[in-house]
Amino acid sequence: MLIDKHHRVHDYLRISLTDSCNFRCSYCMPDENTPCLPQSHLMSEEEIITIAKVFVELGVRKIRLTGGEPMVRKGFASILGKLAKLPVEITMTSNGVLVDTYLENLKEAGMRTINISLDTLNPQTFFSLTKRNQFDKVWKNINLLIENGFRVKINVVAMQGMVEKELLDFVRITKNMPLHVRFIEFMPFDGNAWDSKQVITSKQMLDRVIEEFDIVKLKDEPHATAKKFKVIGHEGTFAFITTMTEHFCGSCNRMRLTADGKMKNCLFGNEEKDLLGELRNGKDIKKLIIESIQEKHAVMGGQFAKGYENIDAGTLKNRSMIKIGG
Ligand code: SAM
Ligand code: SF4
Repeated sequence: MLIDKHHRVHDYLRISLTDSCNFRCSYCMPDENTPCLPQSHLMSEEEIITIAKVFVELGVRKIRLTGGEPMVRKGFASILGKLAKLPVEITMTSNGVLVDTYLENLKEAGMRTINISLDTLNPQTFFSLTKRNQFDKVWKNINLLIENGFRVKINVVAMQGMVEKELLDFVRITKNMPLHVRFIEFMPFDGNAWDSKQVITSKQMLDRVIEEFDIVKLKDEPHATAKKFKVIGHEGTFAFITTMTEHFCGSCNRMRLTADGKMKNCLFGNEEKDLLGELRNGKDIKKLIIESIQEKHAVMGGQFAKGYENIDAGTLKNRSMIKIGG
């Protein structure tokens, strides 16, 4: 088992399959022309499976595929099929645009839950955020997932000046659709021009929702990052991911593997262990994984712990979100 100095058991691995994407969200991909890693720097299919197996031997019980956009990865279906044979729960975070292409593969892999990122319900706003005219396709695919029995969570990045316009619409769609909408407080990463003034807090959002709806607090799962609520009588739920205002590091069980095979023990940490390099040198990567967990900081990768208002994004050292794998 992977237990750190702070007594946290780590059994959840997020694997980035690629740093490339078919969308261009500015909060994630700093520069539209950011070059992608050359193929030789990416983990091959075989290397992904080998590294994943080592993590499973060390106690991992859940794997999330992410990216970039995981479904643009060459060989996605084959990688998914192989990972699905491991004794883990398999899930994914995606922009949803290729769901129809891979629906059967997702079902065959036994995936039950999927997180789809959708920051707006308005096609024009969707275009200005993603630089792609794909709202209708994503919306159709969300419906397709529901029809096929998937539990669908919707990730909305909450940015001041933007989310306010649609906050209540997102809560409204949970009336007749079994969707689980999660508002994520805007986080700082390399190159995304983060400023504390752009953060709209979960409390501010909740106060606005309460003015319109009668809600109840739901029980949160262990290790949950989201604080869940439900409007009384609605089919779906809504939640807040309070990374900036109330971190959940105390119960963290998460580790990340970037598309170029580096292990990150925290989303906000800048320390990385080169598992792929070690593997390609014929070495045992177990030692590095254990070391990485031993070095994990108690809170926010050791980079910030005080109020988000005091963060100077320019002093943070990290990758951009697209190069980490959300
Ligand atoms: N392409 C996939 C997608 O969009 O879901 C997976 C990768 S994306 C990096 C993973 C998640 O990170 C998405 O839900 C996205 O909205 C979220 N994200 C990216 N940048 C963020 C930021 N600066 N603050 C909060 N969430 C962010
Ligand atoms: Fe692509 Fe997802 Fe990042 Fe948007 S949030 S640019 S869809 S990886």
